[in-house]
Amino acid sequence: MKKISRRGIAVLLLTLVLTAGMVLFLFTWTQNAKDWLLFSGSPHVYRDGRPALTQVKDRDGETLLSYSPALAYGDTPLRRAATMHLLGDRSGNIPPAFSQEYLLPLTGYDAINGLAGAGERVLTLTISARVQETALQALGNHKGTVAVYNYETGEILCAVTSPTFDPDSPPDLTTDLTGAYDGVYLNRFLHGRYTPGSIFKLVTTTAAMEYVPDIFARTFICEGEMEFGVDKVICAGNHGEVDVKTALAKSCNCAFAQIALLVGAENLTKTAESLGLTSTFTVDGITTAKGQFDLSADAPVNVAWAGIGQYTDLVNPYAFLRFMGTIAGGGQGAEPYFVRRAGSYMAKTTLTPQLFSQETANGLTAFMQNNVNTIYGAWQFPDIEVCAKSGTAEVGEGLLPHATFAGFCANDAFPLAFVVVAENAGAGSDICAPIAAKVLHACVEELAR
Ligand SMILES: [Zn+2]
Repeated sequence: MKKISRRGIAVLLLTLVLTAGMVLFLFTWTQNAKDWLLFSGSPHVYRDGRPALTQVKDRDGETLLSYSPALAYGDTPLRRAATMHLLGDRSGNIPPAFSQEYLLPLTGYDAINGLAGAGERVLTLTISARVQETALQALGNHKGTVAVYNYETGEILCAVTSPTFDPDSPPDLTTDLTGAYDGVYLNRFLHGRYTPGSIFKLVTTTAAMEYVPDIFARTFICEGEMEFGVDKVICAGNHGEVDVKTALAKSCNCAFAQIALLVGAENLTKTAESLGLTSTFTVDGITTAKGQFDLSADAPVNVAWAGIGQYTDLVNPYAFLRFMGTIAGGGQGAEPYFVRRAGSYMAKTTLTPQLFSQETANGLTAFMQNNVNTIYGAWQFPDIEVCAKSGTAEVGEGLLPHATFAGFCANDAFPLAFVVVAENAGAGSDICAPIAAKVLHACVEELAR
């Protein structure tokens, strides 16, 4: 009996150990199965160190990239160059503009079946390859970026970066002395930071509308320059007495110096921050670069220049595009994104918080419409009701300024917001308005398809 009971105890102990082991295994399995299957060397998920997607397509179903059997980009050199910064290059110097977080739905992974349910592996982007091509051609030899998104849905139709190259015949950067490829690895839309110039006056105007109750009743005097002790703010014109609407249309630096001081450093900073211009964003798993607006304990002349979009101001094109979408949307717009679909993942529209009042949005819209009607010329944008602001950003002695242009179409049929930056290209509206016009018309055609 003693022997049997000893054996019984031994068996019982073994059973307990086995059960404990099973429980531990099941626990770690439920916790870690995903990581085990999707580890970076997994042949089910990766091929040659890249996610083993079958294809990346654009919004029209055009194949931009196939991974299988070998990595192949689009059909023409123009298409390959125009989409390279979204897809990544062959050498891995330029990463794709969407993260590996989309691997999971693409693998078809679920907790019960593991990878057994993996279906067709296609990642569909919201961009249009055709519009990308139009934008790259419109930018010509300028470095910079052109981006357009649907401010009601959040879909980015265009996000071109220049310089770029055909990933099937990359240039030899070590021997290039022309500077044509400077910064070519940078996705300027997501990771660029630019001195904005006068497009930043939209931020100062937003702050004025939100914080200065009688802003519409006030006028400002421009005599071509404004002295601050030994420093001064210089205007491109001598505009006399202007209200805020005319000051914005004529892009009067003297008036905006006074408006910036009226709003004050604290409220200007608060506005730049609340508009997201000093924040990073996570777009399809990729973190954007954050802009800069720094007026801690600064002299009035610096507050003035900061409100004009100079001083140490820097903006990221993605964040500024989002700001344009919120003006168009009455103080609230859709968050911009690239990935429409990946396996079982379907993008959903996410709205920004209400960043400023509907009344302020209406005011900005009317002003930006007035800019186009009285200064840039509505003839440049037939039938698309563009509201905009241009900028000519001084970036240093001996350098041509950055030309900037941002705005949106005030029409429900084509809810498009845009931003254009042409580096060291000259005057904002001269250079950028024709680029914006070409790309917006291509987008309108795209939406009608
Ligand atoms: Zn002026």
